[in-house]
Amino acid sequence: MTYPLFANRVAVLATMHRKETVIAPILERELGIQLQVPPNLNTDQFGTFTRDRDRSGDQRSTARLKAESALELTGERLAIASEGSFGSHPGLPMIACNCELVVLVDSLHTLEIVGRVISTKTNYSHTTVRSVEEAQIFAQRIGFPEHGLVMMPHSSTKNPDEIVKGIVCEAQLLTVVTDALRRSPTLHLETDMRALYNPTRMNTIAQATLNLVSAIQSTCPNCTYPGFELVDRQPGLPCALCHFPTALTRVAIYHCQHCGFRQEHLFPDGIEVADPAQCAYCNP
Ligand SMILES: [Zn+2]
Ligand SMILES: [Zn+2]
Repeated sequence: MTYPLFANRVAVLATMHRKETVIAPILERELGIQLQVPPNLNTDQFGTFTRDRDRSGDQRSTARLKAESALELTGERLAIASEGSFGSHPGLPMIACNCELVVLVDSLHTLEIVGRVISTKTNYSHTTVRSVEEAQIFAQRIGFPEHGLVMMPHSSTKNPDEIVKGIVCEAQLLTVVTDALRRSPTLHLETDMRALYNPTRMNTIAQATLNLVSAIQSTCPNCTYPGFELVDRQPGLPCALCHFPTALTRVAIYHCQHCGFRQEHLFPDGIEVADPAQCAYCNP
């Protein structure tokens, strides 16, 4: 498959963490885009997961910033960037989740299209350990050594000299933990969330890339440009029993960033009435 606006174009991917291994095959197969990784872009300047550098903006603006610096650095007109975040699930506070975003920035057509996915398949976790044995138990739980670990004396550390990242083998874990326990009675261990050390996250990035492809293939009915995007969901789906408007979505609004065309999709979730269990009047 190719896509008219992007076929046979080169896109630069701002990554130091081998995200091209999952993003490149999808974009080439689905859109005909040739992906390249600029060799001298330091994406850590935009913030890291290992707290030695804080992030400045939100997830989407950080991804956009990465893409724009890749364009500036290479002089290309098409860039891809990805940005992940981790935390508790918006609806299920006890469950960890990974939100991945993959953005395409096309300076030739002035387009920015985003793909995203929220996945509860993540090993995102941390713990405090007092011994090598405790470290090994945690390591086993998070899928080590296929998934890497990060070790530091305590979680508030910002000193890069105290943070050991990318621990990916048993011998290294033993050495690092034994050595650090001589200086500190407890250690903070956490999962390394950088894509190249985390195959579970890499898979979620692949899903977000597929979502980007769908977003691109959603074209504007007015001007046919790609990226006809869902921008708002409005509540008010009527209750099946009393017809009172509920918090469930009644209308989804799509918007074209190229020509400004807006379209309302009535009942986007395929249901025209809400279950009375969701109604503030019938089930207060
Ligand atoms: Zn349009
Ligand atoms: Zn009701």
